Amino acid sequence: MTPAAAPILVVAEHAQGRIQPGSYAAIHLAWKIQRLHPAPVQVLLPGNDPRAAAAELARRTGLAVMAIQVPGPEPSTSDVAVDALWRYLVDHRPSFLCMASSTRGLECAPPLATRLEAAHVTGVVDVLAEGGAILMGRLGCANQEIHFLEALTPTVVLNPLPGAFDADMPTPSAPGPVAWHHGPRERQRIVSRGFLPAATDFGALAAAKVVVAAGNGVGERDNLTWIQRLAALWPQAAVGGSRTLCDRGWLSHDQQIGLSGATVAPALYVACGISGAPQHLAGMRGSGLVVAINTDPRAAIMREADVCIVEDLTRFIPVFLSLVEADKLEGQ
Ligand SMILES: Cc1cc2nc3c(=O)[nH]c(=O)nc-3n(C[C@H](O)[C@H](O)[C@H](O)COP(=O)(O)OP(=O)(O)OC[C@H]3O[C@@H](n4cnc5c(N)ncnc54)[C@H](O)[C@@H]3O)c2cc1C
Repeated sequence: MTPAAAPILVVAEHAQGRIQPGSYAAIHLAWKIQRLHPAPVQVLLPGNDPRAAAAELARRTGLAVMAIQVPGPEPSTSDVAVDALWRYLVDHRPSFLCMASSTRGLECAPPLATRLEAAHVTGVVDVLAEGGAILMGRLGCANQEIHFLEALTPTVVLNPLPGAFDADMPTPSAPGPVAWHHGPRERQRIVSRGFLPAATDFGALAAAKVVVAAGNGVGERDNLTWIQRLAALWPQAAVGGSRTLCDRGWLSHDQQIGLSGATVAPALYVACGISGAPQHLAGMRGSGLVVAINTDPRAAIMREADVCIVEDLTRFIPVFLSLVEADKLEGQ
């Protein structure tokens, strides 16, 4: 009899009873692997008492969910979560272990990969089968190419690139089964000391009907004036931008659009000098008309855009503004 294939496991996350969206993307990655490498997909949900969240996850996905008790105070920290997951994994070694690229997922994946003696691949955007092997793809060459890697270990730990896999769940025919795994408390190496509200307020961006977003292509801080003047053409417009500009301090963090910033869905989104990294696209995909101004016609944002303007923004925007202003004067 052929031995059963080692399962494809997903480590999901929840906070205050809500499943984190990155967990669904990790499930989609697991399903994609399953289509190439048939094996059961099962979800592990660690937490202080994750049984209610596990039932919700089983209902949303139709998958078998193992609620893994993390002993100790809530919220649990990554070190005790790793110990609790390891107690399960030591007897249930997976072929693939998928976890979100969240703070928790990126903290837990390396120590679990080390204990499992597994290869660890982050930023996965695709998988494909070649010659009996599963290859993991991640972006290379300024996001213009996908670089495929083959793991040489029986277990592989994967973090999908945020935004690269769907986070919506199809409706399952029936809920999956839920089981409960618990073990003794181990030595805690870090403790939670509570929460403070974050200073960021994404309200203005989220409410805007028009968003003009600036990216690295603005070149110089002073060129943001062009972005502000462009936004000023519309009454309910807001200026946002890519993480690159927010990290540099040219825009504030509550102007960041994307996975780790605001999610916007304006009627018009004007991307100025933005390449269209998956983490940025994750925050603006719900926009209506998308206009991209970029010198590179092969930039990923061009595939998202309804109107592509292949031009230097510092040349295009001033000319556009002068034409609009001349038009206004004529209309008076
Ligand atoms: C965990 C994680 C979370 C992240 N979260 C976010 C997030 O929330 N939001 C986000 O935006 N990013 C996020 N990032 C970063 C993301 O991966 C990209 O690095 C970032 O979005 C790139 O910003 P950019 O498009 O401004 O810059 P670049 O990638 O450098 O692109 C600049 C673009 O400008 C064009 N250009 C250059 N000169 C001109 C010109 N004169 N006129 C017109 N076009 C020009 C270029 O052709 C290029 O396409 C995250 C990354 C990680 C790992």
